[in-house]
Parts: sequence; structure tokens; C-alpha cells
Amino acid sequence: MSTLDPARVPLSLYVHVPWCVRKCPYCDFNSHPLAGEVPEAEFLAALEADLEAEAGRAGGRPIETVFFGGGTPSLLSAEALARLLEAIRQCLPLAPNAEVTLEANPGTFEAERFAAYAAAGVNRLSLGVQSFDDAALRRLGRIHDGAQAHAALAAAVRTFARVNVDLMIGLPGQSPAAALADVEAALAGGATHLSCYQLTIEPNTPFAAAPPILPADEEMMAIEEAVEHRLTRAGFVHYEVSAWALPGEACRHNLNYWSFGDYLGVGPGAHGKLSTPEGIVRRMKHKHPRRYLSARAPFVQEETAVAPEALPFEFLMNALRLRAGVPREWFAARTGLPLEALAPRWARLEAQGLVEPLAWRIAPTERGWRLLNSLLEEFLP
Ligand code: SF4
Repeated sequence: MSTLDPARVPLSLYVHVPWCVRKCPYCDFNSHPLAGEVPEAEFLAALEADLEAEAGRAGGRPIETVFFGGGTPSLLSAEALARLLEAIRQCLPLAPNAEVTLEANPGTFEAERFAAYAAAGVNRLSLGVQSFDDAALRRLGRIHDGAQAHAALAAAVRTFARVNVDLMIGLPGQSPAAALADVEAALAGGATHLSCYQLTIEPNTPFAAAPPILPADEEMMAIEEAVEHRLTRAGFVHYEVSAWALPGEACRHNLNYWSFGDYLGVGPGAHGKLSTPEGIVRRMKHKHPRRYLSARAPFVQEETAVAPEALPFEFLMNALRLRAGVPREWFAARTGLPLEALAPRWARLEAQGLVEPLAWRIAPTERGWRLLNSLLEEFLP
């Protein structure tokens, strides 16, 4: 019998906006090229019904963070975003200091729109820059160029106190110097948070059909080291596998995922995870925008109860991405299992120098963090 107390698990909200101007050749997200305009009226009506249905499951818990992700949420008009935030406040108790992040694409940015998003309640902007280099952006099939990336970052920093820049590393033909030039531009532009993702070739994408030549392993290591060195020198903390932040600037929304908190998901293909006294339930909404828009509440395509034997792996797959790990008490509070469920396997990893003693925190060592995948294999259900 689970001992989960949902009231002790923090709750976030994710809103998925599934459209992009066009599909990037490396992207396997649930994003769809837009033919014409965003069907805002239809989309808002569906999201409002979705929110209402989800609110009934939240048990009055405050929403600590909201994240508008995609796709390209900055395709939404400021009016639509304001109406959406109002609907969220009507349906759910938004914590007074809630972090509200919106993802924006430099190719769709308008400075006035940023100001209106801020006026509506967005207090953190995440900019999908990927690179400031024109040739690299062309190879990635992005709709923006370097000048637009610089302009969008300048407008973002003028409008929002907290700005993330997404960068890609390991681009075709990229040298450590080229990767550093992108990092330098993000720093000079005033980003307080950087997400540096390695370009990977995902199945069923145009890049999988005609793969570009990516940097060799040695070159990739040199890129990672150069980025690490530069960001550390700039005072950034490498707090998660792909995330860097100035002190106090870590993304609270993502921290909630990585610390196995709960989240409601609304919008096409949005995922949710909710603790209940009976256990943890995962949900995914109808994935295709057309299907989602023609569905009715609760919009659920899939719902599964997480088996207790899968919980140690699921918890650690998230928590060990964090360099500092999480307090040990959170394991029982967020899985309903006793800490002993980790014990024998943890002891083996501790003896190999891959994790810290369980008496302190649930945390990897520096070496374990670098070897995360092999470390996690120990906990596969
Ligand atoms: S803009 Fe982002 S979500 Fe849209 S297709 Fe490109 S990578 Fe995917």
C-alpha cells in the first residue's frame, strides 16, 4: 500500500502549443508546421475545457510554476496568452510567486509582443536560439538568422529579468571555438540561464534519413570542456546535465520535473504526472492537434498507473540528472516507497564511487554524473 501524500508533492502546469512556422529537420517533438494562422479561438476553448477538467484532480494544491512549451508558443498573440493565463488563474490556485515561463522563437519575435506577454504575467522567457551563426542556423533548417537571435535576446533582456537561451552544441562541422562564440554571445546578451543540448539524430526525422556529419567524440569532448570552462568562469553553475544558471536562476519548473514533483499537462500531447493516495498516475493528452481540437474533456489519449517496481528507476532517472541530487527524504515523500528500496543497489554503486552515501543525499558523485546512463542501468525495473 502506497504512503503517498499528494499534499506534500509540489505541483506545476505545462501547456503545449503544438505549431511551428515549419518543422526543423532534426526535431522529433510534437510540433506541426502551421498552414495559415494558429486556430486561436478553437485552441483556447479546448485548453480552457482541458484546464477545468485537470483542476478537479489538483485537490486545491497551488501551482508553483507554469511553462508554455512547444512547438512555438510565441506564435500565440498576446491577447490569447493573456486570456490563457486568466483561465489558469480562474481554474487553479496560482502561487503568488509562481514562475511563468514562455518559450519563444527568435524567428517569430516581436518586441511589443514580449512586453504584452510580460504584462499578462509571464516572468521568464526561454529563447530557442540554438546558434548565433548564420551558416549553422541554415544547416539546422531554422527560420531565424544570427541578427534576429541577437535582436530577440536584446528585447528579451529588456523585458524579462530572467532569460534562458537554448544553444545546441555538437553541430555539423562545429569547432570548440565556434561553440564558444555562441556561448560568448549569449553571455554578452545578458542571459541568466543557458541550456546547452547536444545535437542528436532522432529516428524518423529528415536528419535520420540524410545524417549530417557530426563532430567526432574527441572534438565533442573538447567542445564540452570549452563550454564548461567558459561558463564556470562567468559564474554559472552546471546544475543539471544540460543546464547552466547564475546562482538563484535555476529553472524552477524543470527542477520540479527533476525532483519528481507533480505536473498537470494541457494541450496536444501534453504529459502529466500526478500523485494520488493509491499511487502515481501518468497521462498523455491526444497527440495530434486535429484530434485534440475535436475531442472533449478530459482529452486523454493514454493513462497509466506507474508500477511500484518502476518507481526507483523513474525517480533516479530524474533526480540524478541534478549535480547536487535531492534530499534523501524526497524519495519516500515522492514515491511512497521506503528509502531501503534503493539500499542494496545503492551500496554497490557507492562502492564503485558513482554515488554519494545515502546517509547524506540522493546524489551522484562527479564521476557518476558523467556516467549517468550506466549508473541508471543498475535500477532498470
Ligand atoms: S522550432 Fe523547435 S519545436 Fe519547432 S520544429 Fe524547430 S526544433 Fe521543433
